[in-house]
Amino acid sequence: SAEPVDPFKMGWLKGVYNEKPVKDVQTRFPPEPNGYLHIGHAKAITVNFGFAKSYGGKCNLRFDDTNPAKEEEQFFTSIQDMVSWLGFEPAKITHSSDEFDQLYDLAEELIRRGKGYVCHCSAAEVKENRGGKEHGPRKVCGDWSKSPEKNLEEFRDMRDGKYEAGTAHLRMKQYLGTKPEEYEVKEDDTAETKKEKAKLKSLADNPALWDVAAYRIKKDNYHHRTGNKWRIYPTYEFTHCLCDSFEGITHSLCTVEFETLRPAYNWLLEALDHKFPGSDEKGPMQREYGRLNVEGTILSKRRIAMLVNGTTIGGDAPDPVDEAADGVDELALAEDGDEEPEAATTAAKAVANGTGRKIPPVVRDWNDPRLFTLVALRRRGVPPGALKKFVFDLGVTKANANTMTHSLDATMRGYLERTVPRLMLVLDPIKVTFENLPDDYIEEREVPFDPKDAAKGSHKVPFTKTIYIDRDDFREVDDPDFFRLSPGQSVGLLNAEHPISCISFSKDPATGKVNEIKAQYGKEVKPGKARIHWVGESAAHKSPIKAECRIFNPLFKTQKPNELDWKNGGYYDNINPDSEIIYSNAMVECGFREIQERAPWPKEEGEAKGTADKSSVRFQGLRTAFFAEDADSTADKVVLNRIVSLKEDTGK
Ligand code: ATP
Ligand code: MG
Ligand code: MG
Repeated sequence: SAEPVDPFKMGWLKGVYNEKPVKDVQTRFPPEPNGYLHIGHAKAITVNFGFAKSYGGKCNLRFDDTNPAKEEEQFFTSIQDMVSWLGFEPAKITHSSDEFDQLYDLAEELIRRGKGYVCHCSAAEVKENRGGKEHGPRKVCGDWSKSPEKNLEEFRDMRDGKYEAGTAHLRMKQYLGTKPEEYEVKEDDTAETKKEKAKLKSLADNPALWDVAAYRIKKDNYHHRTGNKWRIYPTYEFTHCLCDSFEGITHSLCTVEFETLRPAYNWLLEALDHKFPGSDEKGPMQREYGRLNVEGTILSKRRIAMLVNGTTIGGDAPDPVDEAADGVDELALAEDGDEEPEAATTAAKAVANGTGRKIPPVVRDWNDPRLFTLVALRRRGVPPGALKKFVFDLGVTKANANTMTHSLDATMRGYLERTVPRLMLVLDPIKVTFENLPDDYIEEREVPFDPKDAAKGSHKVPFTKTIYIDRDDFREVDDPDFFRLSPGQSVGLLNAEHPISCISFSKDPATGKVNEIKAQYGKEVKPGKARIHWVGESAAHKSPIKAECRIFNPLFKTQKPNELDWKNGGYYDNINPDSEIIYSNAMVECGFREIQERAPWPKEEGEAKGTADKSSVRFQGLRTAFFAEDADSTADKVVLNRIVSLKEDTGK
């Protein structure tokens, strides 16, 4: 039999490995603990852990916790949970903040080597010195030429709280490219010189090297791990490559927007002798893979926060767009995180003077199954293996993978088809009573959980005088195009021997809806053209089990919610009113109790190791949809979530 294909030992990642084929591959997944992970992170996790696993190496989980104001304990716990749910085990769990002392010492060393300086420019001055159309040529500022001694003194003053936030930054003396004669090609330059100059020009043109910040002073400086010890915090640019080096990372895999930051990554490591100049032989090697973008939903933390908490808009409060690449933000040297309270105040004023709007929450929480955070996908019942398969099927390359929610649906259907058991579940039941059967009639049928896979075993399904069928499978008036049950017509039953036919029906006078069908069952009934699902009533089997079913549809009326006018509340006007449809009187057959006992379905690596929760109780409701048990479910009240429909667009 063929070896299973290892997606990391083929294609682009194999190329990355071949560039530096070390024996002890070491990678890391480095989330910022400032929010819940989303489906894009499933790719980052799969790539980092999967790559290490394929080459017999290790992967760390590193909390990149250098931004004190934004971090909360719940995010640390949830991120860790999601990694193990996806079936990966970190070799080590590390925190960038554990390295604050070492990082600080290296910052002093950088200054001593003449490669760091304390700059007192405002954000506007930095912008001006960076040149461009409005500002003319790029310039160094007055702080650039200070002595290492002076810089060291001022850096210690920063540390000791002698400056206000925003009035001093430690900048790395990278390459501002303020001397065009160094890189502008002259006609009589030799070929060799031209090559050298071209290299310098590409550095000069890269804003990631324009002396970006290494340390800044934080106003809200309480850190959940280091408390009030630090007033200054290192930036992503200073921290990331050094922590990679401390942890012995061989392959630092990150998303493509960090590609322009690669020279800066190498610059710092080389400046501090953590890497050989121009070589990947020593120290970590950064390589970039494409982001996973999913259309039809939103992934931005700030936007999800608006859906979860509601918001106030108006008065030109800014659009809460996601800062997709945090790293790039730091280039501005400005204190980040200040715009949020300002936006809230602006909007609150607008609401007060009647020009703003208060918008209520539209989802229940960050794990609302209509969202695409990992906690939401998990709650909905999406198996972790289906997410990994989705990532593999899209292929891991340098190109961004743009996809849509319905292609994830297709992957899930394929994945669930043969891995979960089948049960009968009726969403909107109508009672059917067989007039030709005695009151105590009971046929106990042995039904396989999966007709194509005997290994899943079988269970007992009681067929009795009273069963329930779905309202959709009945018509009050017969129609030649309708092949299910209607007066005078017959239909087959899945998992039962004989067909049934309808004699009469009655309606609830209060609602006008059909509430009972009188029928016949047996070999004398003429065969039906179709077979429908049902649930039998049997006290001995404690059947049916009553359930609430939650059917999820897209949260937005548009496939492109990112293009909505969020700033003016346009998203609220585009929420799909049918994003959640609740069937509160659904019924499921008693085999459900058996599959609860035997979960997780399927036996996923992570879930089998004990990360399973109710959402791993998954099954296919015959002719209905794939379902999983919801976190709200109890012994008295079963709650089920639709993971995905059986076919595209069934609307159920
Ligand atoms: P976001 O702002 O979208 O929540 P982020 O980049 O701020 O994401 P981090 O916590 O810094 O989130 O991400 C941890 C890792 O996950 C990083 O290496 C990042 O590049 C990667 N990552 C984030 N979003 C995606 C995505 N959509 N596809 C692939 N990898 C991603
Ligand atoms: Mg971000
Ligand atoms: Mg980030």
